[in-house]
Amino acid sequence: METQGVAADVATVKLLIDGAFVASRSTQWREVVDPATQQVLARVPFATADEVGAAVAAAQRAFAGWRRTPIGTRARIFLKYQQLIRDHMDELAALLSAEQGKTLPDAEGDVFRGLEVVEHAAAIGNLQLGELANNVANGVDTYTLLQPLGVCAGITPFNFPAMIPLWMFPMAIATGNTFVLKPSEQDPMVTMRLAELALEAGVPPGVLNVVHGGEEVVNALCDHPDIKAISFVGSTRVGTHVHHRATLAGKRVQCMMGAKNHAVVLPDACKAPTLDALVGAAFGAAGQRCMAASTLVLVGGARAWIPDLVTRARALKVGAGRVAGTDVGPLISRDARLRVEGLIAAGVAQGATLELDGRNPRVEGFEAGNFVGPTIFSGVRPGMRIYDEEIFGPVLVILEADTLDEAIALVNANPNGNGTAVFTQNGAAARRFQEEIDVGQVGINLPIPVPVPLFSFTGSRASKLGDLGPYGKQVVLFYTQTKTVTARWFDDDDAGHGVNTTISLK
Ligand code: NAD
Repeated sequence: METQGVAADVATVKLLIDGAFVASRSTQWREVVDPATQQVLARVPFATADEVGAAVAAAQRAFAGWRRTPIGTRARIFLKYQQLIRDHMDELAALLSAEQGKTLPDAEGDVFRGLEVVEHAAAIGNLQLGELANNVANGVDTYTLLQPLGVCAGITPFNFPAMIPLWMFPMAIATGNTFVLKPSEQDPMVTMRLAELALEAGVPPGVLNVVHGGEEVVNALCDHPDIKAISFVGSTRVGTHVHHRATLAGKRVQCMMGAKNHAVVLPDACKAPTLDALVGAAFGAAGQRCMAASTLVLVGGARAWIPDLVTRARALKVGAGRVAGTDVGPLISRDARLRVEGLIAAGVAQGATLELDGRNPRVEGFEAGNFVGPTIFSGVRPGMRIYDEEIFGPVLVILEADTLDEAIALVNANPNGNGTAVFTQNGAAARRFQEEIDVGQVGINLPIPVPVPLFSFTGSRASKLGDLGPYGKQVVLFYTQTKTVTARWFDDDDAGHGVNTTISLK
């Protein structure tokens, strides 16, 4: 981060406050860098306390009108928004790929998985429904209202700069709340383009606001008395801090956090599609997915598959995300590359077998990029840093187990519980895995089991704090307060029933 003014020749990322894209008055800025070239694409401000306050105040003012806006009007905005996102898919994917590094097809996937949530938000009329119980006592009905909370905030990570903001503000706004979003300071540009399109779709001034920054801005959102709920996605360290700080300030909080996703392969698995799936899920997005299959547990005879796995991984093409045919793009930053290379060195030093070393790949024309190629370790054990830490890079670590039960015990002993998968042709084994494993999202012959928005993203143990998921049915409950109304209407000629001093409804 620098503390100077902004160079005139580089675009500056704006704040969105009360329907206007405004230049920050901050003295603290950071560069948004193309991870394949180190070219500075833009500069992003760390918003001042006054600017954060102005964004929350705008959201608070807008809430008064927005909460009364009919549900059909809200739904129609998201119908228009999903079309605008489709119409701008190529532009959004190119912007995302330039600042984040992932390949163009994967960038499109990032936007598309967010678009699915926007489509879900357009169905809000069928989702924000209360319940009614008729005649719970004589002439008495009870029903529920799912009412919006007020101003809600979202804090997002760098790895899905389209999908994860779209997990948050569409459902928060569709349920009648107003929103302040704090995107990742590492790649905020595609998020801002999505915010522009949201206004074009009809989101009124103040209903969606965006501020940029790091720790100070996040802490200000956690502490602000007018913010009622916070949705966070990012690392376990920061998410735990956000959860504790915002909960202490009386807010509803959901934090989706770090991972170490184990794929368990039984010897009866269908070999070719299993290996294809594992390689794609370990090295896609350069391993920078919270649901990356970063940890492989080979059971029994599946141990013999390592050479074939290595052959497939070695064939992947490392390169700039914008170049057609690239499989593995750069890591987000030089720091991320150094950290991943340091962990690979630790794996070697701690005695794991380096089956494939992806360090220092030659990428012609992009020599300055933050590239690490597919890397595979076998002979990995708990206690090694490459097993105990989330690497968040294109590094697959392989452990071995003699039986399915041993594999299940290994996965359950790891503190993380984001995603897992089992590969087998045996239904009984798959069912045992599904029942016994203590992980939020389970794949059966599917390496990245992220549910579509008919369901909710989830997580278990160290991967999740808070009860409800960030989209799907659960998020309607997260973003609303359930109010019960118990009502009785008297006939005009009702002569009364005598005083009742008990608690029972009669
Ligand atoms: P991060 O935790 O560093 O950053 C997330 C957000 O927190 C950013 O907006 C950042 O500005 C802010 N932040 C950073 N440091 C902070 C601090 N000290 N105090 C307050 N706020 C701070 O995460 P990242 O590196 O951007 O993303 C990668 C991580 O996110 C990985 O651990 C990955 O597993 C996780 N992730 C989890 C999910 C999930 O759904 N479980 C999804 C995507 C990513």
